[in-house]
Amino acid sequence: MISDTIVAISTATGEGAIGIVRMSGARAFEVADLIFKPFSKNTQWTDKKMVYGQIVYDNKVIDEVLLVKMFAPRTYTCENIVEIHCHGGVVPLKTILGIILQQDVRLAARGEFTQRAFLNGRIDLAQAESVIDLIQSKTSKGFDIAIQQLDGKLSNRINIIREDIMTLMAQIEVSIDYPEEDIEEISYAKIKTVLESNLNSIDTLLKTSQSGRMIREGLKTVIIGKPNVGKSSLMNALLNESRAIVTDIPGTTRDIIEENINIAGIPIRLIDTAGIRETDDAVEKIGVEKSKKYFNEADVIIFVLNAAEMLSDEDREIMSYIQDKHTIVLINKSDLPTVIDENEIRKTLHDRIIIKTSMEQLIGLDELEKAIEQIVYQNQFEMNEQEIVSNERHIALLHKAFKHVKDALEAAKTHLPYDFIEVDINDAMNALGLITGQHIDDELLSNIFGRFCLGK
Ligand code: GDP
Repeated sequence: MISDTIVAISTATGEGAIGIVRMSGARAFEVADLIFKPFSKNTQWTDKKMVYGQIVYDNKVIDEVLLVKMFAPRTYTCENIVEIHCHGGVVPLKTILGIILQQDVRLAARGEFTQRAFLNGRIDLAQAESVIDLIQSKTSKGFDIAIQQLDGKLSNRINIIREDIMTLMAQIEVSIDYPEEDIEEISYAKIKTVLESNLNSIDTLLKTSQSGRMIREGLKTVIIGKPNVGKSSLMNALLNESRAIVTDIPGTTRDIIEENINIAGIPIRLIDTAGIRETDDAVEKIGVEKSKKYFNEADVIIFVLNAAEMLSDEDREIMSYIQDKHTIVLINKSDLPTVIDENEIRKTLHDRIIIKTSMEQLIGLDELEKAIEQIVYQNQFEMNEQEIVSNERHIALLHKAFKHVKDALEAAKTHLPYDFIEVDINDAMNALGLITGQHIDDELLSNIFGRFCLGK
């Protein structure tokens, strides 16, 4: 059991109307009583009730505050918690923190409040990790996924799979340990059925991970196309502000311009490149090199063409680069007379989404946004019906579990001895257990909670 008392400033630093200092642990109430003087003489402390008063130290009034005591175990950490709601701003917060630190209370490490919630069994590891995702979510969709995870939906799914595999494991063990007893031996057919069904469940979760990752981390979207086709105009239209320089002279978007936008709740990192082409110009060359790098790492490519020009060798070269990428083709300047050969584009980039746009007249942007959504939600699942896996650590462990269940299934299919199957099932169980924190070591723990902000 953790016994020491921790403290931290839980609100963001900087000026604010209110700031909160939070304490958790066995001595939290005692320390609060030492430094807090309620205005009302007959204050009755009850759970989670705010009391108005002053922080007084060395007979000096430090600040006028509201203080709340939260009684264990029904608190964030499962321990006694005190929150002091003082004036926002660095001085009152740091002064109060300093006074508390002199009372044999220790400064909390990053994420230590949430870590205690986990160690005290109130939430599991996947739920604890969702807290940081909630705080860091970039869009409402990312927030929705994190809230679902905090609610334990993902953990429940994982636990169901894990328990099913555990039961199977127990049945196999009995068959191995007591072969001569009069216990009905589990059949290969039964093992196969259980493994197949759980392999499917893991696969269903993994199928959501690509969308989950995109929603959580943002979609890296690279705009390419030769100079003067309207890339900067597109970027500006999407940003709805003129930050990239739009000009008539080819090749003036010398460097990479990167912006973060939000389309239908999906965070998009929009990257405008100088286009992929060989050049002798030193400045242009830097842009080209960089654009190739961004291009390789892109989740989605928006390839812009000029409707008013014939396809050039440069366009064809770009088309050859983007063969195996998620690509949306924009035939821009469609307000001008069209001379581009659309058939050739369709033939080369067959099943790609092709949209006719005009950045001059702001036509086609809605379709572009829909196309981006379509790419993110390829699997066509509904957010509310399916838990979405978005955390890299969980995705990696699910892949691991998938592989072990698959190996076990193969072993069962070829009627290998039960011991072989058992090894794989055990590994799958451990991988799943690491997601929710059933198996965890100190290093992993500090790795995970070290990513939190102070005071959480
Ligand atoms: P970039 O070099 O690919 O970034 O192209 P820009 O966005 O700088 O655009 C080059 C020129 O084409 C500018 O003069 C734009 O105003 C013009 N332009 C961009 N999109 C359109 C469009 O849809 N229709 C017409 N008529 N002109 C456009």
